[in-house]
Amino acid sequence: MSGTLTVVGLGPGDPCYLTSDADDALRAAEAVYGYKPYLDRVPIHSMQVHYPSDNREEGTRAAAAIEHAVRGANVAVVSGGDPGVFAMGAAVCEAIERGPEAWRKLDVAFVPGITAMLAVAARVGAPLGHDFCALSLSDNLKPWDLIERRLDAAAGAGFVIALYNPVSRARRWQLGRAFERLRQHLPPATPVVFGRAVGRLGESVSVVTLAAADKSPADMATLIIVGSRETRIVERPGRSPLVYTPRAAVEVSA
Ligand code: SAH
Repeated sequence: MSGTLTVVGLGPGDPCYLTSDADDALRAAEAVYGYKPYLDRVPIHSMQVHYPSDNREEGTRAAAAIEHAVRGANVAVVSGGDPGVFAMGAAVCEAIERGPEAWRKLDVAFVPGITAMLAVAARVGAPLGHDFCALSLSDNLKPWDLIERRLDAAAGAGFVIALYNPVSRARRWQLGRAFERLRQHLPPATPVVFGRAVGRLGESVSVVTLAAADKSPADMATLIIVGSRETRIVERPGRSPLVYTPRAAVEVSA
């Protein structure tokens, strides 16, 4: 008898960002797998067992959860934000593609969540109001050269860029190099939004220019949105400025 596997997005942190679909999936699960800090956000429902694991163990975690579900249990795997954005969704698909034939018969569902770039964007206005892309700055799973080429292509083509995984304990220099690269394509006054732990305790959001971006602190809980040539700042008396990218592009970028 085969069970089910549901890959659930928890949103950026606060329970108000958890969708009711995600909440239902978590309540229905007999077993929940996930990176420990994410799992700590999920209340343990009656008779439910939680299986925390470390960061960078996505492949092993996915395989364990699939195996558990194949044995007949109703299993959930959780990700922060959306599970399809640099998270467990792809790890589960990779495991199923590489795993035994029996795993392909498993009932698998994906429940979306509010991803970090949307949560950060909403704090300042509408910086993703026109064409944008998302890029992970982590070179754990791809070479740094490729990241630089993608930064060049994205900035050159006029996309607003959301940078996930800007810094980690082992990756200190990459963010500075990325800004250096982007300054070759974009004016110094281009707005850059830093959102740290948005929707969680210790949230902070700031808006700076690309010229000054190196001076802003960033860590593993920070998402950065680099504007395009069209991105604008609307100053307001007594209120924080609005950052937005107009819906129409008026000129060819770069
Ligand atoms: N699946 C997640 C992303 C995982 S990659 C999502 O959809 O949001 C991890 C990166 O996401 C972090 O390094 C950071 O860049 C970003 N991130 C996750 N949660 C965040 C939050 N609450 N505030 C700001 N950035 C966040």
